[in-house]
Parts: sequence; C-alpha cells; structure tokens
Amino acid sequence: MTSLSNEKVQLLLDQPRGRGMVVSCYTDMRVVAGFEPHWLQPFKTEASVLRESLEDDHQARQELERDIEAIQRALEAPEARQARGMAVFSAAERGLFLAFPSDIPFANRLVVDDEPYVVPLLEGYVQQQGYLAVLTDTHRGRIYAAGIGGLRLLDEFDEEVPRKNRSAGERWGKQQATIARHREDCILHYHKELAARVKQRWDEYPYNGIVLLGADDPLSAFRALLSERLQARVVDQAPHAWTVEQSDIEVEVRSVIERAAVARQREALDEFAGRIKEKCAVAAGPREVIEALRNGQVSELILEPDSGAIASRCLGCHSLFAEERLACPYCDTACSRCNLWQHLLAMALGHGVRVQFVPTPSDLSQHGGIGALLLRDEPQWAPASVDHSGREVQA
Ligand SMILES: [Zn+2]
Repeated sequence: MTSLSNEKVQLLLDQPRGRGMVVSCYTDMRVVAGFEPHWLQPFKTEASVLRESLEDDHQARQELERDIEAIQRALEAPEARQARGMAVFSAAERGLFLAFPSDIPFANRLVVDDEPYVVPLLEGYVQQQGYLAVLTDTHRGRIYAAGIGGLRLLDEFDEEVPRKNRSAGERWGKQQATIARHREDCILHYHKELAARVKQRWDEYPYNGIVLLGADDPLSAFRALLSERLQARVVDQAPHAWTVEQSDIEVEVRSVIERAAVARQREALDEFAGRIKEKCAVAAGPREVIEALRNGQVSELILEPDSGAIASRCLGCHSLFAEERLACPYCDTACSRCNLWQHLLAMALGHGVRVQFVPTPSDLSQHGGIGALLLRDEPQWAPASVDHSGREVQA
C-alpha cells in the first residue's frame, strides 16, 4: 500500500460533514478460476442491497449511482488489476474520490455512511508495515518494510571493502596482517553505518520487530552493533545469500513474519492480562484508552475486530469521546457521531503508537474489545489530586 500516507488518511478522516454520503468500498482483487475477479459478484450484490435501502429517497439513490459508477470504473482500471486489494472512497456530492491499491486483499465490502470507513485500510496498513527486514553481508545491505502483504524497499547502500586475501602458500607477513586489519575496519565501518540506518528507520514507524537475513558470521557481528533496545526486537535471524531479487527473500520473510505475528498477538494479550492483574501500566475499555492516548502514555494499542461502536468527535478541537455527546466539554463546539475504531486507530497511528489486532473473543472482550499497554517508565496517567489552595497533593 505504497500510496497510503498519514496525510491521506487524515484527509479521509477530516472530511467535512454535511452534504451527501460517502461510499467506501473494499475488494479482494484476486482472480478466481482464471477469469472472474473475486470482487465483481459481491460488489453487484451489495450495490443492489444499498439501492433497495434507498428506494424511497430519489436524490440519495441518484447520488449512490454516481458513486457506484465511479468506484466500479476505478476497480476496472488497469492499475487496479495489478493490486491484490483495493480501497475506494467516493462522495460525488462532496467532490471526494480516492483509490488505494493494496498488496493485501481486503474482504469485499461496501459501506455507506456520513464519513469514509477506513478501519480495513488502516488495519491493512499496520499489517503491511509490521516488521523491518534487513538483508546484509560484509559490505552491502537492504532494509525493507515487511508485512504479510510483502516487502517494500526502504533503503539500500554499499561500501568499498577490500576483498579477503585468499592467497595460499605465502607466509603470513606483516603486510597481509595489515590488509586483513584494514578489511575488518571497513566491515565494521559498514556495519555501523547499517546499524545507524536501521535505527533511523525503526524510529520512523512503530514496527513490531526486526528480521535479519544474511550469512551467519557477518550477521551476528552486525547484530551486536545494534543498540540493546533494537537487539531485543530481533524476532528472527536466518541464513540467506545476498540477492537484489526481492522475490527471493519474500517467501522466507513472510513465513518468519506470520509466525512472529501470531506469537506477538499472544504476547500482547498475556501482557495485558498480567498487567490487569497487577493493576499497573494498562488501560482497559474505550474511555481509559482514549484518555491514555491523549496523554501520550500508550506504548501499544490492542484491538479486537471493529464492533461498530459509535463514539463522538468534536468538530472544533477533534477530541474523541467514547460515548455520544452533543457538545465538547473542552471547547463547547458541537460533536458529531463517528466510528470509535477508526478514530482510535487514527489517533494511535498519529501518535506513533504500535497497534496489535487480536481475534475475538479475547481478554479484551469484557472491556469492549479495546485495551492498551502503557509506557512503564512514565508516571501513571491518573491526574494528581489538587487541594483547594491549588497545590498538587501526592497520591
Ligand atoms: Zn472540542
């Protein structure tokens, strides 16, 4: 999903309310039995259901037809055929039209609402961005964003390193020892540069972990140069020959990631359950989680599949509330109804918070399907109580 950026997501979420409706469409673009795409039949069926539901409203019905036509054109375009999934948003009345080709297929779905429905899009984005994969040898490296959908090259570079001196029969002289030392210095320099670049990428996005690929020796030497924080995030280290062909390592990385993703899911839920028991560094349920996100204390947001829960969002300061509200308590501006999941997700991604999706039912079910792990070294977010003189009172 290379074309998805935070700005585009924000553009979708900040759609001004008002005139008309927004049609959001998700499709599985893979082809069944060699001829018919997966999406066509479900798309037609869902479109007729929507038409029927708007039978009595002539204007809305006309609007829907324009949106459906625009979406279908986008799905039939040549660019869409290259994709495994498509997310398309159309609001003819508002002049909005956006299409996102994706490397992962979506479940076919057509949604009509006041705002674009972006949960599957964000979920796909998170899944595709999940891990950093690093392929390296003694002097060249490639860094990828890797997910179930595939790999995306983020960075590549190489450095001049003298070749290993293989001459046999000659005596191990001072000169050769110097050359060997020089070679080791060059490799070290290259590995340090690679470690710096990996750190830079890691800090750009809340990745779930790091996958290292390459020949054993240089890989272990490189790994040792990563900071302790990054070393702890290495989920797998696998031998692999150097290649610039992405498809050569894609299969390998995907299987590592699939295993790691399941383990990570389990780990997040165990951690959540443990912290609930300890009553420490955890937020459970939409209200607590929104508060913790607002205070910048969430290290990981954990979500069950979208329950369709309704929340509200201030049209002025954009504050999110877990319940339906008419006016914002902070700025007194009117609030509008919105989908809780998508605004929580957008808030988390906007704050650079890691997101973990878990299947239902889980330990989160009794908390409305929403929980968060909080940063351990931050003070707890419960506000310090203030006595009447205005001084803070230690809890
Ligand atoms: Zn407000």
